[in-house]
Amino acid sequence: MTDLPVVAADSRFTVRRIYCVGRNYVAHIREMKEADERDPPFFFQKPSDSIVVDGGVVPYPSVTKDFHHEIELVVAMGSGGRNIPVAKALDHVLGYGIGLDMTRRDLQREAKDRGLPWEIGKAFDHSAPCSPIQTVSSVGHVREGSITLAVNGVTRQSGDVRDMIWNVPEIISNLSSLYELKQGDLIFTGTPSGVGPVVPGDRLEGKVDRLGSLNITIGPQEV
Ligand code: MN
Repeated sequence: MTDLPVVAADSRFTVRRIYCVGRNYVAHIREMKEADERDPPFFFQKPSDSIVVDGGVVPYPSVTKDFHHEIELVVAMGSGGRNIPVAKALDHVLGYGIGLDMTRRDLQREAKDRGLPWEIGKAFDHSAPCSPIQTVSSVGHVREGSITLAVNGVTRQSGDVRDMIWNVPEIISNLSSLYELKQGDLIFTGTPSGVGPVVPGDRLEGKVDRLGSLNITIGPQEV
């Protein structure tokens, strides 16, 4: 069972599922040379045991030669349901965190080109680093604010949460039409532009306004 610390609370957040949104910032869609910017949101999952906690090491994964960072706002669900209306969606949010949707970009691109599932490019071991959860009762809802990622102290990604194409209530509502959401679900909400490769030894620091930071080191390649 995977769990995350909850900041300023004597409790842990037990992770049930990890959902991820693809293509949710226009500037990232453009850098990836993707299709229609108005397409509805689409989703994929990562294994719940792919979480790496703050301060941890992400081994450089096997097979890839192009391992990328994607900094993302993470939503932690305190309750769930099916067909949740947009207007009620935030009632189900326990809090927020900072996540990295780590990606074997070369394998993801090959899968896209061949019309195959993204699984091996996205849903592998240690692919979901995530910070402690900040609760809504202590920081409120995250509707705007800077989201950044630095590698070895140099800023690589910089965006604003307000620039998400599909906002948090819309994502929850849409996702709940496809799956019954439950307490313990995490939703990675997509990355701003500036994604790029990392190598063993790199130090990654992700930040989202009011949520603190997430620090990860890239370890030697898995064999
Ligand atoms: Mn992503």
